[in-house]
Amino acid sequence: MNLRYPVYSPYLNGREKALVIDCLDSTWISSKGKYVGQFEDTFASWLGAQEAITVSNGTVALHVALAALGIGPGDEVLVPSLTYIASANAVKYTGADVVLVDSERTYWQMDIEDAERGITSRTKAIMVVHVYGQATDMDAVMALAKKHSLYVIEDCAEAIGTRHGSAHVGTIGDIGCFSFFGNKTITTGEGGMVVTNNAELAKKVRHLRSQGVSSEREYWHDAIGFNYRMTNLCAAIGCAQMESINDLIAKKLQISEWYRQGLAGLPVQVHSTRPGTVHSYWMVSIVVDDPCERDALRAGLRGDGIETRPVFYPLHQMEMYAAPGENFPIAEDISRRGINLPSYPALMRDDITVICDSVRKFLARKELKLEPVLEAKT
Ligand SMILES: *Cc1c(COP(=O)(O)O)cnc(C)c1O
Repeated sequence: MNLRYPVYSPYLNGREKALVIDCLDSTWISSKGKYVGQFEDTFASWLGAQEAITVSNGTVALHVALAALGIGPGDEVLVPSLTYIASANAVKYTGADVVLVDSERTYWQMDIEDAERGITSRTKAIMVVHVYGQATDMDAVMALAKKHSLYVIEDCAEAIGTRHGSAHVGTIGDIGCFSFFGNKTITTGEGGMVVTNNAELAKKVRHLRSQGVSSEREYWHDAIGFNYRMTNLCAAIGCAQMESINDLIAKKLQISEWYRQGLAGLPVQVHSTRPGTVHSYWMVSIVVDDPCERDALRAGLRGDGIETRPVFYPLHQMEMYAAPGENFPIAEDISRRGINLPSYPALMRDDITVICDSVRKFLARKELKLEPVLEAKT
């Protein structure tokens, strides 16, 4: 079926094509070339971080960040169960163990009280994930990390434009990781960035990203590193995206407001924003009051040409991350009832009206269907 409204579609109407052609004309198409450094510098200053290091995707950003912090076998890292699989996979790549944490009811982020219950003598770090663009409670995270001497890794793959107070997320913990996959708020096709205010940590990330090559001697390697470099082609797209980044973020906030207005009064709740933070609404998400309605509503919308996504399945429900004897009731409940709506920057007010009307039509139809059942009871 041809979908009228996909969940996502990247915005590529700026200088992306011109800068990619410039790479091709210059023959600098792999990871050397001017756009790599330019993208790092522009991103760091836009974000307010001392250092930004490009990498080939968001998953390896997390892996190299953990490796640079020295996380490895025998260590435990706290990760929210309600996240994309890459957050936990990156921990496993280091040989460390993942300890899953439940979510908060209203904001869906890691529940810091539940995180504290998961701390053992082996816990080395806490990986917060600002899921769907909502900020985690970083005051609580930093206090917990200080109390137990833990590193803080921020998975900001979904949080470009998200702020806690005036600080951009990713600059609050020890190290922050971004993704520029095609459906993220800015994209380079595939790509990622590691940010930190710690110069020594930045040096380790650069070293590990590039095969652990010695800074003193050519073709001499003093660590087992990785080839996690970004290409100049991707960085060129990133430089062009940076020219639109503020407009893209503003548009997403506008879209979330349009949805909030359009869905007012219906038995669904739009993901609300934690006070004192900026939610960047990577994906505008709703929860339906009744979990039994969720899949039927998604099917109804699909029939009207509107693509949606179910909110992430909690990681503990997948075999690799099963946590027998542990309970994650909030993550499970949000996952059962949550839907991501079309959230791409080209959506206009009329599009949102069409989508909200479809939600309303479907929920009203369902209420009508209930009536005979109620009558039969009397
Ligand atoms: C997209 C995403 C990643 C991984 O990024 P890739 O660039 O796709 O490797 C990691 N964590 C979260 C929460 C994500 O949404």
